Amino acid sequence: NKWESEKKGRCVLLVFRETWRIMKIAVIGAGAAGLSALRQCISGTYNDQVVCYEKTDQIGGTWVYREETGSDKYGLPIHTSMYKSLRTNLPKEVMGYPDFPISERPESYLSRTEILDFLNAYCDHFALRPYIRLLHHVELVEPAVGDRKWSVKVRDLQRDTIVTEAFDAIMVCNGHYFQPRIPKISGHDVFAGKQMHSHDYRVPEIFDGKTVVVLGAGPSGMDLALEISKNANRVILSHHLTETILTVFPENVVQKADVVKLTEHEAVFADDTKEQVDVVFYCTGYKYNFPFLAESCGVRVDSNMVTPLWKHLVSIENPTLALVGLPYYVCAFSMFDLQVRFVLRHWHGERRFPARADMLSSEAEEAARRAERGLQKRHFHMMGPEQGHYYDDLANIAGVTPLPPVMTKLHNESSMRFVDDLVHYRQDRYKILDDYNFVQF
Ligand code: FAD
Repeated sequence: NKWESEKKGRCVLLVFRETWRIMKIAVIGAGAAGLSALRQCISGTYNDQVVCYEKTDQIGGTWVYREETGSDKYGLPIHTSMYKSLRTNLPKEVMGYPDFPISERPESYLSRTEILDFLNAYCDHFALRPYIRLLHHVELVEPAVGDRKWSVKVRDLQRDTIVTEAFDAIMVCNGHYFQPRIPKISGHDVFAGKQMHSHDYRVPEIFDGKTVVVLGAGPSGMDLALEISKNANRVILSHHLTETILTVFPENVVQKADVVKLTEHEAVFADDTKEQVDVVFYCTGYKYNFPFLAESCGVRVDSNMVTPLWKHLVSIENPTLALVGLPYYVCAFSMFDLQVRFVLRHWHGERRFPARADMLSSEAEEAARRAERGLQKRHFHMMGPEQGHYYDDLANIAGVTPLPPVMTKLHNESSMRFVDDLVHYRQDRYKILDDYNFVQF
């Protein structure tokens, strides 16, 4: 008995030591995900030593609007995909953090500036700024040889110097709406008009009087078809959905099947019809991209599935590497916070990672389940109706506070409203007429 209790005592001590061990953590990116990573690392529960590297000159990630497209003055690709008029496609109630909701106000769907202000307020409330190194571009992350597990090579953009620092763990929070996915359409090289991706879209005036074919009917494609219809002469929303999207668009927006070919001046559609067009506007989404992760990190992108990962989050080959924020069609900020709490519980030894083989089979089982439901590999990280299950799974495994189920319900409900009534769904009921002269019931 004495031996047993001594053993127990030693175990408690061991867990205690591991739990409260201060880790040195690098956070890559100071968007909504990186900020929640920082906030939890210094929450008081953990008090880790943490450095957040951000390559631009301010926090907020994709919510920072910039007029420029292409490259910045340091020669780096512009990160943000934000356009000038953007309002959120989710109500504010599902856009806050669990411990820092968006404050009360009459409207539900906020502007991009209000979200950026909110992220700045979060940053100030939790006193995160001292931990953030702006204008620091992470160029390379690789396993280290010394005491610490990781080596991070960073360029200080202002001084144009390189620093290499060692860390125990890495949280990758670099976003996934910056690397355009552009399908190669036959004839794209002979088309004489303009071709652009939504990543580079800022204002609708560039389409004044033009005929534009919008490729893709995801949230961006639908939103932008509507937005540019005020300026364009005609908008053709081309998608591969089998049915017409039953939302009321303005009269100059029509829906068509996929574009299968481009000629010098025309788009040819899957139903063999043709249209003369001035612009091909790709709203075809983005690719996951981690240009700074060395191959030896053990994470690769395979047909836009980031793998091998446990729970869409933790590198199975190197569990002290976490990729926060990969799932989409989610309550993003709350999910980031939950993912980070999940990871920290494991890194601090309060929960043990399963054996490598078990993590691999958990990923393979989920891939098989999704394939059975007809989902392609590139949709592996898509949540939508599955999100509630995912959140509960993370919370249960890590033993952390779950997200309230109402979040998932609200998210799914507002996604339905988006599709059902694109023109009005953001409106508050007291408004009778909107810009398009549709009556609001
Ligand atoms: P990001 O915001 O992209 O931040 C990543 C950060 O990492 C950036 O600041 C970047 O500069 C930095 N970084 C990248 N690489 C490096 C490097 N090598 N070194 C240092 N720093 C680096 N979500 C919603 O919930 N509701 C909405 O209505 C909504 N609308 C959206 C509209 C648009 C047009 C877009 C593009 C996205 C929208 N989203 C929306 C999704 C949005 O991306 C997430 O809500 C969230 O902001 C993503 O945060 P993040 O921190 O993961 O990524």
